Amino acid sequence: MLVGCHVSISGSIDKAVDNAVERNCTAFQIFTRNPRGWHAKDLTDIDISAFKEKLKKSNIDRMATCAHMPYLPNLATPKPDGFEKSVKTIVSESERCGKLGIPYLVTHLGSHLGTGEEGGINRLVDGLCTAGSVKNDVMILLENTAGQKNSVGSRFEQLGEIFGRLKPSKKFGVCLDTCHAFVAGYDLRTEQGVKESFEEFDRFVGMKHLKILHLNDARGELGCNLDRHYHVGLGGIGEEGLAAVIRIAKKNKIPIILETPIDDVRDDHGNIKKTRELVA
Ligand code: MN
Ligand code: MN
Ligand code: ZN
Repeated sequence: MLVGCHVSISGSIDKAVDNAVERNCTAFQIFTRNPRGWHAKDLTDIDISAFKEKLKKSNIDRMATCAHMPYLPNLATPKPDGFEKSVKTIVSESERCGKLGIPYLVTHLGSHLGTGEEGGINRLVDGLCTAGSVKNDVMILLENTAGQKNSVGSRFEQLGEIFGRLKPSKKFGVCLDTCHAFVAGYDLRTEQGVKESFEEFDRFVGMKHLKILHLNDARGELGCNLDRHYHVGLGGIGEEGLAAVIRIAKKNKIPIILETPIDDVRDDHGNIKKTRELVA
């Protein structure tokens, strides 16, 4: 089973591999730079070779790694300068992933800020297609959203509709976040609910496009639209449903990435261990 968590690059980017190895990860996710600002320091040749060397020496397959976009970009924004900066950022993140040999870049779909879904989606598609024109092997993954006000892409119908408009199609895939799906109204609490939700995902998006699974339990209840992650099995989704999701990911060899909190209840080790135990 490919399972790991989001790991820090604090110090230097190759430290991410150390952090992943230390946590017994067979998959991991990073930010390639500080996620809270617009600026990214260029990756040096030394950064790149150190990261690649460590990854090669580890037991982690390059194809089970991904990067997540920083927080500030919003590809659905009606503000022209914000949109331009957002597109520049996703293009640059794709290039950085290419240099590091990371195959997947996860992005949120953004917010239209109250100006309407149609325009928001049109801008999003436009921005994503620009990022898709970067000449490398990096695939951009659309992450389903929690359904917060003005956000797009929480329903699989809409995610599929957006996905279908992206060109070239081979540059795009999907990342499914279980917390986001649950708070957006998909009942993942039981095996039956998981089965039905994944059938719906398959119908509108297509299982073959699912490249990364974000395995997070939810702090909130079904359909609450609150993006608050919680420890595996201890939130609103619970063990039965998450075990069913893990089995699907395992069967389809989809890397599982945890984005769970670190607190007194549990740390990354604990959540990764729990994930393995649920299907042992
Ligand atoms: Mn995300
Ligand atoms: Mn996520
Ligand atoms: Zn989230």
